[in-house]
Amino acid sequence: MNWHATILTLFPEAFPGMLDVSIIGRARAEGLWSLDTVQIRDHAHNKHRNVDDTPAGGGPGMVMRADVLAAAADSVDRAGRPFIYLSPRGKSLKQARVRELATGPGVILLCGRFEGVDQRFLDARDVEEVSIGDFVLAGGEVAAQTLIEACVRLIPGVLGASQSSEEESFESGLLEYPQYTRPRDFEGREIPPVLLSGDHEAVAGWRRKQALDITRARRPDLLPENRNEAGSNPAPDKKEDDQ
Ligand code: SAH
Repeated sequence: MNWHATILTLFPEAFPGMLDVSIIGRARAEGLWSLDTVQIRDHAHNKHRNVDDTPAGGGPGMVMRADVLAAAADSVDRAGRPFIYLSPRGKSLKQARVRELATGPGVILLCGRFEGVDQRFLDARDVEEVSIGDFVLAGGEVAAQTLIEACVRLIPGVLGASQSSEEESFESGLLEYPQYTRPRDFEGREIPPVLLSGDHEAVAGWRRKQALDITRARRPDLLPENRNEAGSNPAPDKKEDDQ
Protein backbone atom coordinates (compact mmCIF):
# COMPACT_ATOMS: atom_id res chain seq x y z
CA MET A 1 0.00 0.00 0.00
CA ASN A 2 1.26 3.48 -0.83
CA TRP A 3 0.93 6.53 1.43
CA HIS A 4 -2.75 7.46 1.30
CA ALA A 5 -4.55 10.66 2.28
CA THR A 6 -8.33 10.77 2.76
CA ILE A 7 -9.79 14.27 3.01
CA LEU A 8 -13.18 15.03 4.53
CA THR A 9 -14.35 18.33 3.08
CA LEU A 10 -17.31 20.35 1.85
CA PHE A 11 -15.17 21.31 -1.17
CA PRO A 12 -13.76 18.13 -2.75
CA GLU A 13 -13.28 20.12 -5.97
CA ALA A 14 -10.38 21.89 -4.19
CA PHE A 15 -8.36 18.62 -4.47
CA PRO A 16 -5.82 17.69 -5.68
CA GLY A 17 -5.38 21.44 -6.27
CA MET A 18 -1.75 22.39 -5.63
CA LEU A 19 -0.97 18.73 -5.03
CA ASP A 20 -1.22 18.08 -8.77
CA VAL A 21 1.75 20.22 -9.83
CA SER A 22 5.49 19.56 -10.05
CA ILE A 23 7.16 16.80 -8.03
CA ILE A 24 4.14 16.13 -5.77
CA GLY A 25 1.82 15.69 -8.76
CA ARG A 26 4.37 13.53 -10.58
CA ALA A 27 4.75 11.34 -7.50
CA ARG A 28 0.99 10.76 -7.43
CA ALA A 29 0.98 9.91 -11.15
CA GLU A 30 3.75 7.40 -10.40
CA GLY A 31 1.69 5.85 -7.59
CA LEU A 32 4.04 6.85 -4.74
CA TRP A 33 1.04 8.29 -2.91
CA SER A 34 -2.69 8.63 -3.45
CA LEU A 35 -5.64 10.69 -2.35
CA ASP A 36 -9.40 10.44 -2.06
CA THR A 37 -12.02 12.82 -0.79
CA VAL A 38 -15.25 12.38 1.17
CA GLN A 39 -17.97 14.98 0.60
CA ILE A 40 -19.20 15.63 4.14
CA ARG A 41 -22.57 16.79 2.79
CA ASP A 42 -23.23 13.28 1.45
CA HIS A 43 -23.52 12.20 5.09
CA ALA A 44 -26.17 14.74 6.13
CA HIS A 45 -29.41 12.99 6.98
CA ASN A 46 -32.11 15.63 6.76
CA LYS A 47 -33.78 16.55 3.51
CA HIS A 48 -32.01 19.92 3.26
CA ARG A 49 -28.68 18.11 3.67
CA ASN A 50 -27.63 20.52 6.44
CA VAL A 51 -24.11 20.04 7.72
CA ASP A 52 -24.05 22.99 10.10
CA ASP A 53 -26.24 24.73 12.64
CA THR A 54 -26.21 27.74 14.95
CA PRO A 55 -23.82 27.65 17.94
CA ALA A 56 -25.27 26.53 21.27
CA GLY A 57 -25.07 29.48 23.65
CA GLY A 58 -25.42 31.97 20.80
CA GLY A 59 -22.87 33.96 18.89
CA PRO A 60 -22.01 34.51 15.25
CA GLY A 61 -21.63 31.96 12.49
CA MET A 62 -22.40 28.27 12.21
CA VAL A 63 -20.88 25.09 13.64
CA MET A 64 -20.44 21.77 11.80
CA ARG A 65 -22.72 19.11 13.29
CA ALA A 66 -21.21 16.21 15.29
CA ASP A 67 -23.64 13.60 13.91
CA VAL A 68 -22.93 14.48 10.28
CA LEU A 69 -19.16 14.54 10.87
CA ALA A 70 -19.31 11.20 12.68
CA ALA A 71 -21.20 9.61 9.77
CA ALA A 72 -18.61 10.99 7.32
CA ALA A 73 -15.67 9.88 9.52
CA ASP A 74 -17.12 6.40 10.10
CA SER A 75 -17.45 5.85 6.35
CA VAL A 76 -13.65 5.87 6.09
CA ASP A 77 -11.42 2.82 6.66
CA ARG A 78 -8.82 4.27 9.06
CA ALA A 79 -6.29 1.55 8.26
CA GLY A 80 -4.02 2.65 11.10
CA ARG A 81 -3.95 6.26 9.92
CA PRO A 82 -4.15 9.19 12.35
CA PHE A 83 -7.33 11.26 12.14
CA ILE A 84 -6.41 14.94 12.07
CA TYR A 85 -8.62 18.02 12.22
CA LEU A 86 -6.87 21.07 10.75
CA SER A 87 -7.59 23.78 13.29
CA PRO A 88 -6.03 27.05 14.47
CA ARG A 89 -6.42 25.68 18.01
CA GLY A 90 -4.32 22.62 17.22
CA LYS A 91 -0.75 21.81 18.08
CA SER A 92 1.55 23.69 15.73
CA LEU A 93 2.77 21.50 12.85
CA LYS A 94 6.54 20.93 13.02
CA GLN A 95 8.94 19.11 10.69
CA ALA A 96 9.38 16.32 13.26
CA ARG A 97 5.64 15.51 13.17
CA VAL A 98 5.65 15.80 9.36
CA ARG A 99 8.43 13.21 9.26
CA GLU A 100 6.48 10.86 11.54
CA LEU A 101 3.35 11.21 9.41
CA ALA A 102 5.34 10.67 6.21
CA THR A 103 6.76 7.37 7.47
CA GLY A 104 3.30 6.07 8.47
CA PRO A 105 0.54 4.69 6.23
CA GLY A 106 -0.98 8.12 5.52
CA VAL A 107 -3.51 10.49 7.07
CA ILE A 108 -7.21 11.22 7.33
CA LEU A 109 -7.80 14.97 7.34
CA LEU A 110 -10.91 16.89 8.30
CA CYS A 111 -11.23 20.35 6.78
CA GLY A 112 -13.39 22.68 8.85
CA ARG A 113 -15.50 25.56 7.58
CA PHE A 114 -17.63 28.22 9.28
CA GLU A 115 -16.79 28.66 13.01
CA GLY A 116 -15.43 25.13 13.31
CA VAL A 117 -16.81 21.77 14.47
CA ASP A 118 -18.88 20.49 17.41
CA GLN A 119 -16.45 19.58 20.22
CA ARG A 120 -18.30 16.31 20.93
CA PHE A 121 -17.25 14.92 17.55
CA LEU A 122 -13.56 15.64 18.32
CA ASP A 123 -13.88 13.98 21.76
CA ALA A 124 -15.89 10.96 20.55
CA ARG A 125 -13.55 10.06 17.67
CA ASP A 126 -10.23 10.84 19.39
CA VAL A 127 -9.26 13.45 16.85
CA GLU A 128 -5.84 15.12 16.82
CA GLU A 129 -5.97 18.88 16.17
CA VAL A 130 -3.14 20.34 14.08
CA SER A 131 -2.54 23.99 13.20
CA ILE A 132 -0.37 25.18 10.32
CA GLY A 133 0.31 28.53 11.99
CA ASP A 134 -0.94 31.29 14.24
CA PHE A 135 -3.41 32.83 11.81
CA VAL A 136 -6.96 32.02 10.76
CA LEU A 137 -7.87 30.64 7.33
CA ALA A 138 -11.38 30.54 5.87
CA GLY A 139 -11.32 26.74 5.76
CA GLY A 140 -9.11 23.72 6.30
CA GLU A 141 -8.53 22.83 2.63
CA VAL A 142 -5.36 24.89 2.10
CA ALA A 143 -4.05 23.68 5.47
CA ALA A 144 -4.70 20.05 4.43
CA GLN A 145 -2.80 20.58 1.16
CA THR A 146 0.05 22.15 3.12
CA LEU A 147 0.31 19.17 5.46
CA ILE A 148 0.10 16.64 2.62
CA GLU A 149 2.72 18.46 0.53
CA ALA A 150 5.12 18.59 3.47
CA CYS A 151 4.68 14.82 4.03
CA VAL A 152 4.75 13.65 0.44
CA ARG A 153 8.10 15.31 -0.40
CA LEU A 154 9.67 13.12 2.30
CA ILE A 155 8.36 9.84 0.87
CA PRO A 156 11.32 7.90 -0.56
CA GLY A 157 11.58 8.40 -4.31
CA VAL A 158 9.64 11.68 -4.43
CA LEU A 159 12.63 14.02 -4.29
CA GLY A 160 15.53 13.12 -6.56
CA ALA A 161 18.93 12.52 -4.98
CA SER A 162 19.92 16.00 -6.16
CA GLN A 163 17.12 17.49 -4.07
CA SER A 164 17.95 15.77 -0.82
CA SER A 165 15.96 17.14 2.11
CA GLU A 166 18.66 16.47 4.68
CA GLU A 167 20.33 19.87 4.79
CA GLU A 168 17.17 21.92 4.82
CA SER A 169 15.76 24.33 7.34
CA PHE A 170 14.63 22.51 10.51
CA GLU A 171 16.16 19.16 9.54
CA SER A 172 19.39 20.02 11.36
CA GLY A 173 17.50 22.00 14.01
CA LEU A 174 18.64 25.23 12.32
CA LEU A 175 17.40 27.45 9.53
CA GLU A 176 19.18 26.96 6.23
CA TYR A 177 22.27 28.94 5.15
CA PRO A 178 21.86 31.38 2.21
CA GLN A 179 22.03 29.96 -1.32
CA TYR A 180 23.59 31.50 -4.43
CA THR A 181 23.82 30.63 -8.12
CA ARG A 182 24.84 32.28 -11.40
CA PRO A 183 25.46 35.04 -12.35
CA ARG A 184 28.59 35.64 -10.34
CA ASP A 185 27.86 39.38 -10.24
CA PHE A 186 24.26 40.48 -9.73
CA GLU A 187 23.84 44.28 -9.75
CA GLY A 188 27.27 44.60 -8.19
CA ARG A 189 26.63 41.94 -5.54
CA GLU A 190 29.13 39.11 -5.59
CA ILE A 191 28.75 35.50 -4.52
CA PRO A 192 30.71 35.04 -1.23
CA PRO A 193 34.22 34.05 -2.41
CA VAL A 194 34.45 31.01 -0.09
CA LEU A 195 31.66 29.35 -2.12
CA LEU A 196 33.81 29.63 -5.25
CA SER A 197 37.01 28.48 -3.54
CA GLY A 198 36.52 24.76 -4.15
CA ASP A 199 37.50 24.14 -0.51
CA HIS A 200 34.69 21.83 0.68
CA GLU A 201 35.65 22.08 4.33
CA ALA A 202 35.70 25.86 4.23
CA VAL A 203 32.32 25.87 2.46
CA ALA A 204 30.81 23.55 5.08
CA GLY A 205 32.20 25.70 7.89
CA TRP A 206 30.88 28.90 6.34
CA ARG A 207 27.43 27.36 5.84
CA ARG A 208 27.29 26.09 9.39
CA LYS A 209 28.17 29.55 10.75
CA GLN A 210 25.60 31.25 8.48
CA ALA A 211 22.92 28.78 9.57
CA LEU A 212 23.70 29.49 13.22
CA ASP A 213 23.76 33.28 12.73
CA ILE A 214 20.48 33.32 10.82
CA THR A 215 18.80 31.04 13.37
CA ARG A 216 20.10 33.18 16.25
CA ALA A 217 18.77 36.34 14.58
CA ARG A 218 15.42 35.05 13.34
CA ARG A 219 14.41 32.02 15.41
CA PRO A 220 16.40 31.87 18.66
CA ASP A 221 13.71 29.49 19.96
CA LEU A 222 15.14 26.78 17.65
CA LEU A 223 18.62 26.85 19.20
CA PRO A 224 19.41 23.84 21.39
CA GLU A 225 20.01 26.00 24.48
CA ASN A 226 16.53 27.55 24.16
CA ARG A 227 14.61 24.39 23.38
CA ASN A 228 12.38 22.92 26.07
CA GLU A 229 11.42 19.27 26.36
CA ALA A 230 8.16 19.64 24.46
CA GLY A 231 10.03 20.69 21.32
CA SER A 232 11.06 24.06 20.04
CA ASN A 233 8.54 26.33 21.74
CA PRO A 234 10.26 29.40 23.12
CA ALA A 235 10.24 29.90 26.86
CA PRO A 236 7.78 32.75 27.58
CA ASP A 237 10.54 35.14 28.68
CA LYS A 238 12.49 34.53 25.45
CA LYS A 239 9.60 35.75 23.26
CA GLU A 240 10.84 39.38 23.32
CA ASP A 241 14.12 38.33 21.64
CA ASP A 242 12.16 37.45 18.50
CA GLN A 243 11.37 41.08 17.66
N1 SAH B 1 -13.61 29.97 14.83
C1 SAH B 1 -12.41 29.19 14.67
C2 SAH B 1 -11.81 29.43 13.27
C3 SAH B 1 -12.57 28.77 12.17
S1 SAH B 1 -11.77 28.98 10.63
C4 SAH B 1 -11.41 29.59 15.73
O1 SAH B 1 -11.40 30.75 16.13
O2 SAH B 1 -10.61 28.74 16.16
C5 SAH B 1 -12.53 27.73 9.67
C6 SAH B 1 -11.71 26.48 9.45
O3 SAH B 1 -10.49 26.79 8.82
C7 SAH B 1 -11.32 25.72 10.70
O4 SAH B 1 -12.35 24.85 11.09
C8 SAH B 1 -10.08 24.96 10.26
O5 SAH B 1 -10.39 23.73 9.64
C9 SAH B 1 -9.48 25.89 9.20
N2 SAH B 1 -8.33 26.66 9.70
C10 SAH B 1 -8.32 27.98 9.94
N3 SAH B 1 -7.12 28.40 10.37
C11 SAH B 1 -6.32 27.30 10.41
C12 SAH B 1 -4.96 27.08 10.80
N4 SAH B 1 -4.18 28.06 11.24
N5 SAH B 1 -4.48 25.83 10.72
C13 SAH B 1 -5.26 24.81 10.30
N6 SAH B 1 -6.56 24.96 9.93
C14 SAH B 1 -7.09 26.18 9.98
